Amino acid sequence: MKEITIIGAGLTGPLLGILLGKQGYSVKIYERNKDPKHTFAKLGKSINLTLCKRGISALEKAGLGNEVQKLWVPVYGRCLHLSESQIEIQPYGNYGEALYSVSRQELNTLLLSVAQKTSGVSIAFGLKCVGYDLSRSTIFLIDEHQYQTELPFTTLIAADGGHSAIRNQMQRSFGFNYSQLYSKHVNKELTIPTENAKKYKLKQNYIHIWPRNEFMIIAFPNRDGSFTCTLQLPADDNNISFKKLSSESEMLYHFRKLFPDAIPLIPKLVEEFFQNPEIPMMTIRCSPWHIEDKILLIGDAAHGIWPSYGQGANAGFEDCEILSKCMEQYPDNMLASFIEFQDKRKADINTIADLSENHFNEIRHLVADPNFLLRKRIERKMNLLFPSEYFSLYSRIAFTPTPYKQAVELEPIYSRVIDELLRSQEIISDPDSNESEKLIYKTYRRHLTNNI
Ligand SMILES: Cc1cc2nc3c(=O)[nH]c(=O)nc-3n(C[C@H](O)[C@H](O)[C@H](O)COP(=O)(O)OP(=O)(O)OC[C@H]3O[C@@H](n4cnc5c(N)ncnc54)[C@H](O)[C@@H]3O)c2cc1C
Repeated sequence: MKEITIIGAGLTGPLLGILLGKQGYSVKIYERNKDPKHTFAKLGKSINLTLCKRGISALEKAGLGNEVQKLWVPVYGRCLHLSESQIEIQPYGNYGEALYSVSRQELNTLLLSVAQKTSGVSIAFGLKCVGYDLSRSTIFLIDEHQYQTELPFTTLIAADGGHSAIRNQMQRSFGFNYSQLYSKHVNKELTIPTENAKKYKLKQNYIHIWPRNEFMIIAFPNRDGSFTCTLQLPADDNNISFKKLSSESEMLYHFRKLFPDAIPLIPKLVEEFFQNPEIPMMTIRCSPWHIEDKILLIGDAAHGIWPSYGQGANAGFEDCEILSKCMEQYPDNMLASFIEFQDKRKADINTIADLSENHFNEIRHLVADPNFLLRKRIERKMNLLFPSEYFSLYSRIAFTPTPYKQAVELEPIYSRVIDELLRSQEIISDPDSNESEKLIYKTYRRHLTNNI
């Protein structure tokens, strides 16, 4: 039986384990943390995930479709809290398109328990990988008592996340391209309990956003009616930042100015603000993703993505599906599978990394901008007029499995259509009028016929 060693049992490690176990590989996974089924989750690091079609497709391939559905809450759009008195709903699409909000711990626990039941797959917890020796095909693991073990591997796959120890060693040991870009903003988890969400009538099937330019709260629904929020603030800045808000009175003073309507929703605001860790956001780009046929990086270890598009885990799950297909295609040639995997994935991942950096601005500044909202209305109208042909960029990324790079290819043409339409007074005054509809139809057709 061919052997695969995976480092990391976060989100991508166990999913890859399940897919490869089903293909007949013997898979050993090593995870530095204890089994979460027997320990309490780390407080304040559970910020929810939204799953979308591409991530769900990979989970379905692993036979987890029904189980994961039991964990999620569908969300059909954004509910913007623009001010204390102004709330605006922005649906994701015209046809009930949804993202799916899940708790990171519950998803992780599901993946781990299914991996542990999959024939040929085993997971050893409490063992941290501290490096490898390529010449002897061994990895070094240490346990909680700092006792070091050396184990042989045939093929090593690093699914050990954004701070990957394997990638760090690759970086030191040969010609390896690497860059990282931290966002100046970091995240902090806050909680809206069920009773407060009910009392203040927060709609459950929406992601609630309080956009305030440099500052933002995003609340994701849980199945019990509560919401897990992420507060985004600059990590350090000349104005307000996590570092500057060092006392309770200062923090509450700014919170009252920025988010007066959110304060009553979050009863443990002060406690959570000062106790929960700051979670950074980082784009990581590197290449190559593999050393010969011996070591491969996957998920965040290969590519960190800012979470603004909600694609990091989805892309990691998609990696697992694509890699397992490449390994099926070249059953006796691991090098060919790794090369094929990187060829298929690299350009797509660069695209979603760029989009995620840009989208970060969009959700902070633009969701409340009238011009941006008008563009969105035109996009929705184009989708109604050309339902099988036109989807907004956000929809192509979030609601279709179109490869990321392909999803952006037509964007310049669509942007030209919208730019032209925005010069029409009729569109500006009422994009839903009959005249506007005719204009949208004609303009779209003219641009698309000329360009396709
Ligand atoms: C605030 C925030 C919000 C996000 N929201 C979304 C979202 O809505 N949708 C989405 O798709 N993505 C989202 N993401 C991104 C997503 O969390 C990551 O892309 C995803 O967790 C990557 O999975 P992974 O398995 O590659 O890495 P991880 O989930 O980080 O797992 C790595 C695992 O490896 C283990 N490990 C690390 N080092 C070692 C070692 N040396 N030895 C052994 N084990 C080790 C870790 O303990 C961990 O269990 C978000 C990220 C953040 C920070």
